[in-house]
Amino acid sequence: MAERVIPLVDARAVRPLPAAGARASGPTPADRLGRPLRDLRISVTDRCNFRCSYCMPKEVFDKRYAFLPHAALLSFEEVTRLARLFLQLGVRKLRLTGGEPLLRKDVERLVGMLAALRTVDGKPPDITLTTNGSLLARKARALKDAGLQRVTVSLDALDDAVFRRMNDVDFPVADVLQGIDAARAAGLGPIKVNMVVKRGTNDHEIVPLAEHFRGTGIVLRFIEFMDVGATNGWRMDEVLPSATVIERLQQVHPLAPLEAAAPGETAERWRYLDGGGEIGVISSVTRPFCRDCNRARLSTEGRLYLCLFASSGYDLRELLRGGADDARIADAIAAIWQQRDDRYSEQRQAMAADTGRGARRVEMHYIGG
Ligand code: SF4
Repeated sequence: MAERVIPLVDARAVRPLPAAGARASGPTPADRLGRPLRDLRISVTDRCNFRCSYCMPKEVFDKRYAFLPHAALLSFEEVTRLARLFLQLGVRKLRLTGGEPLLRKDVERLVGMLAALRTVDGKPPDITLTTNGSLLARKARALKDAGLQRVTVSLDALDDAVFRRMNDVDFPVADVLQGIDAARAAGLGPIKVNMVVKRGTNDHEIVPLAEHFRGTGIVLRFIEFMDVGATNGWRMDEVLPSATVIERLQQVHPLAPLEAAAPGETAERWRYLDGGGEIGVISSVTRPFCRDCNRARLSTEGRLYLCLFASSGYDLRELLRGGADDARIADAIAAIWQQRDDRYSEQRQAMAADTGRGARRVEMHYIGG
């Protein structure tokens, strides 16, 4: 059956920035649901060299697609300044994303600039990066030397033919596996591998991937296929619930649940009873985790989004390039966070009924997963 692809509407609406002084007092703000700001995902490019159908279907993101011009992107200095202000507001973890972040020229220089920053209690931030692994073999050492601590690699299949079909650019699985080996050799870790599970497309790869990473110390996570953006033709019957993933794995290797490693963690953790290591499931569709979501997202051109499924963001670049001082920018970020009440995954069904809002979600390649 042909893939359904919905034509792209530019959903990058901008919300008005809060007025100066709008911030409620207090060092680190909590949002309306009491969630602290702890995790900042920074998209450093809206481009990618893959065309995974659940994120950037080739039919939409083709040669005619207008990616952001370089001048529109935040410079490394602007990203670092914003990251410093977010850290002062309580952020502890910085995740570099994209598109494919390793496509951004000299991204290791940005890693070095971020590694020199400190959290509100004087500690180095936890810096990680999500990549499709295609350039990791070449970049792993330089990223580590620059101060990157960990890396998460997306890998949707072990079978080369299935993998090539899913990335839709005929990219071989062996090169991604080589990238993972290079990351480990460079001392990046713990390494996590994310598989997006799409029923009827790659769910038969769940056990082979699990077998491949068992006993390696690499944590494999299974992500439910999500209705991110507005172009991937998402359907509920293509979602394989995480409960089914666990059932399938239990049949081959018994598992036991583990406690969350940190508040706001997206994955439910499980361990193999025979000591074969850990896996995780990320169940945004069947077991939403919005109640302690402490993540903010910075788009490639400096817009602040408060949810992966948001339909509009706040233009912080306007403040950066408009001469605003640090206090004004920090106040704006805090005031924006304080009025946040996003919990899309908990409201998915109700919002799907509200077709007006549901259809205009921002694209994942633009704000990072
Ligand atoms: S749906 Fe939005 S609020 Fe819920 S966990 Fe995801 S990013 Fe957070």
